[in-house]
Amino acid sequence: MDPNSSAAAGSRASNTATADKGDTQTGNDVARYDVVVVGAGMVGAALALGLRRSGYSVAMIEKAPPEPLNDTDTPDLRVSAISVGSERYLRSLGVWDEIVGFGVTPYCRLSVWDDTPHPLSSFMQRPPARTTFDADDVKVPHLGHIIENRFIQMALWQGAEKAGVVILAPAEVAALDNPKAGKEPNSAILPATVTLKDGSSIASQLIVGADGANSHIRQLAGIGTTRNQYGQQALVACVQYAGPVEDITWQAFHPTGPRAFLPLHSVNSEYSWASLVWYDRPERLEQLKALSAEAFLETVQRNFPKQLPPLSHLGGRASFPIARQHAHHYFSGRVVLAGDSAHTVNPLAGQGVNLGFQDAEALQSILHEARRSQQDPGAASLLTSYEAERRPTTTRMMQVLDLFYYLFSNAHPPLHLLRNLGLGMAQAVPTARNQVCRYAMGLDSELPRSLQLLLELRRNGLPPLPSASTLPRFPRPRLLPLPGRRRGPLS
Ligand SMILES: Cc1cc2nc3c(=O)[nH]c(=O)nc-3n(C[C@H](O)[C@H](O)[C@H](O)COP(=O)(O)OP(=O)(O)OC[C@H]3O[C@@H](n4cnc5c(N)ncnc54)[C@H](O)[C@@H]3O)c2cc1C
Repeated sequence: MDPNSSAAAGSRASNTATADKGDTQTGNDVARYDVVVVGAGMVGAALALGLRRSGYSVAMIEKAPPEPLNDTDTPDLRVSAISVGSERYLRSLGVWDEIVGFGVTPYCRLSVWDDTPHPLSSFMQRPPARTTFDADDVKVPHLGHIIENRFIQMALWQGAEKAGVVILAPAEVAALDNPKAGKEPNSAILPATVTLKDGSSIASQLIVGADGANSHIRQLAGIGTTRNQYGQQALVACVQYAGPVEDITWQAFHPTGPRAFLPLHSVNSEYSWASLVWYDRPERLEQLKALSAEAFLETVQRNFPKQLPPLSHLGGRASFPIARQHAHHYFSGRVVLAGDSAHTVNPLAGQGVNLGFQDAEALQSILHEARRSQQDPGAASLLTSYEAERRPTTTRMMQVLDLFYYLFSNAHPPLHLLRNLGLGMAQAVPTARNQVCRYAMGLDSELPRSLQLLLELRRNGLPPLPSASTLPRFPRPRLLPLPGRRRGPLS
């Protein structure tokens, strides 16, 4: 498909032809659609396409349409580790082949280790405790793909445009009229109405707020959030390194935050692109951003683990605040939230948009059934089912990510010991490791027992560590060497 189509260029009310064909009814200058999606990032565009494919008339409103793609571009700073579960969803929407055509990097191994200096490390060299998840162990061809966000968004926009979603972009909502069930006469049958900044109005049975962490629709609907800012921020750098494209992504934990390597595509036969993430205190990241490109690369090379290949060029860098945020409700009246507008999570395990796609898939499936039985898509009973399905899953994932943040972002000796034991055991006990892997890949929704135990431990306050003699006996951890059948810095 042409990356320079009108979806790519972003046009106000492209697909109006479809609207005129009867998917919408207009009257009194108020356009009317079954569903209006506000915010057409990855999650909003996926949902708009999915609902259109279920037969709904859908409009999506976006304030910043994606730029046309350009082959010579440096990779975008915003990239995501897309799980196998999300890949399945994107395939079901019919856009996976387009995304692959734009460029994806599969990874088959994911390695994590603790790089905190040990109190005795100046006297005694020892390999860090490390866990490596491997696609072969879970009998899948890959664990996931690293993909530029703009590729996913573009493929979804093109799919949505082709399916007949009406795209209003650039456009922004100025006001919302959202009748609350039971609070206003006829509220059960009244549609919600959004008024755009240009003064036009759109009425709809359901308004989806997919406009990101600072969702304006969420605020207009009066839905509050609980927000906790982490002490760390994430600095993302797009770099070229000497060597072939790796099939491994890794993350080394430091007390000030993790440092991660995500492989991207090749530049030529000698160099490849990668995305690096350095989590640290905001002041430290400001210092790093102020360095010249050369000094920055040199500092990264010195501070990242030795597994980082030699860096040769900086494509770009930017820092992002990280926060845990959860909406108090996933819907109010005829407004429902999906993706980052409902929840943001710590990006350290690359789960944010994967959770958002799970929201989109869940809502789409509920509304698909609703259409077959001719129910109102904005009915409170349907939106209650959606929240009941999604909130517990998201809460669990937030707790797990917080646990990792708590366990790894410090240098306390007992926690240092605990996480090294945990990583060593995870490496030594394949069943537990593979369960965690399938959970992270979005293949199992059940929280693995090992993570449940850790959460319970955290909830009850970490008790004093047992003495070595009372620790459960596990097979001796096989720390190094790691199985090295593929090329890559750890093989
Ligand atoms: C450093 C970092 C690394 C990450 N890595 C990963 C990863 O590896 N894997 C992963 O799953 N997740 C990752 N995430 C999280 C992921 O980027 C987000 O979860 C994801 O972008 C959320 O998608 P969304 O569509 O819900 O929201 P957004 O991407 O924020 O999209 C919202 C859209 O709404 C539009 N919009 C905003 N306001 C308005 C308005 N008023 N009117 C109209 N339109 C509006 C915006 O222009 C945008 O297009 C990472 C995040 C960070 C910060």
